[in-house]
Amino acid sequence: MQLLEGKSVAEEYLRRLRPRLAVPGRPPCLAFLRVGDNPASLLYVNRKKSLAESLGMRALERQLPLDAPEGEIFSQLARWNGDPAVDGILVQAPLPGAELQERAFAAVDPLKDVDGFHPRNQGLLALDRPGGFVPCTALAILHLLRAHGIGLAGQHAVIIGRSTIVGRPLALLLQGRRVNATVTVCHRQSRDLAALCRSADVLIAAAGSAHLVGPDWVRDGAVVVDVGQNVLSLPGGGRRLVGDVDFAAIAPRCRAITPVPGGVGPMTVAMLMGNVLRAWELARGMAVDSIPQSY
Ligand code: NAD
Repeated sequence: MQLLEGKSVAEEYLRRLRPRLAVPGRPPCLAFLRVGDNPASLLYVNRKKSLAESLGMRALERQLPLDAPEGEIFSQLARWNGDPAVDGILVQAPLPGAELQERAFAAVDPLKDVDGFHPRNQGLLALDRPGGFVPCTALAILHLLRAHGIGLAGQHAVIIGRSTIVGRPLALLLQGRRVNATVTVCHRQSRDLAALCRSADVLIAAAGSAHLVGPDWVRDGAVVVDVGQNVLSLPGGGRRLVGDVDFAAIAPRCRAITPVPGGVGPMTVAMLMGNVLRAWELARGMAVDSIPQSY
């Protein structure tokens, strides 16, 4: 069994970004909008901010209360959209309400949409056209598999989850002409999920449900990617981060599997840095063609 470890792959990816940052002028600037005081959102934003700063980027943050008028969210995004000193804008999910979240994603300038959630960027991905920003977790999975020598062309990839953030963009990326996998997307209403998963060469779990995937859902020799990040409360009062996959039970049957933590997570944050760098290069007038594609 091959462990699809993400930390060292992410470090290598970041090492290769650094020379692109070492040019005169103002550094890239990434702005975060957070609504409410969700502890997981705070943790994720802090992690992304500190990585950006460690690379010499600037990070701004605005936190609004959960009951802030919608106008404050949209006027803040409009200010950052119009500010030439801001290269990337990230609206940290979740916002209070899925519909508000979708509208906030759509209010970010597509050229600063480093999360790739704006309908224009999702549309470019859906049309299999280059030039847009691709969501970081989808990119993370692709890079991680490539770095570990896992080929995807012609493979049957089964994805559990169809969110805007993970499952849907991942399905589009994997089935595109640069990857050429055959993709099945599952969700809560999918019939006989276990059988669908057993048909996978590559199974990607992005449901947000602790240990949803047990050993009888995975065929021998499959590649398993666990995107889930679920916090379990332990009897003694502690907490533990676990994935959607029962790692201990499944790992012996797999060809390769990602750990949680230390698999997709560190790769996702690294991909965000790549997207910010690309937005900054675009703002500096570099032609899209001369900027390395993120995949
Ligand atoms: P979401 O709640 O928006 O979407 C979950 C999807 O999974 C939905 O489409 C739902 O239909 C499906 N689903 C849920 N339970 C299911 C079940 N029992 N059977 C079949 N389908 C089911 O969540 P999300 O934002 O896509 O995130 C999913 C998970 O990935 C979460 O644990 C999240 O924390 C994690 N995540 C990890 C990273 C990372 O970098 N590792 C990045 C983003 C999200």
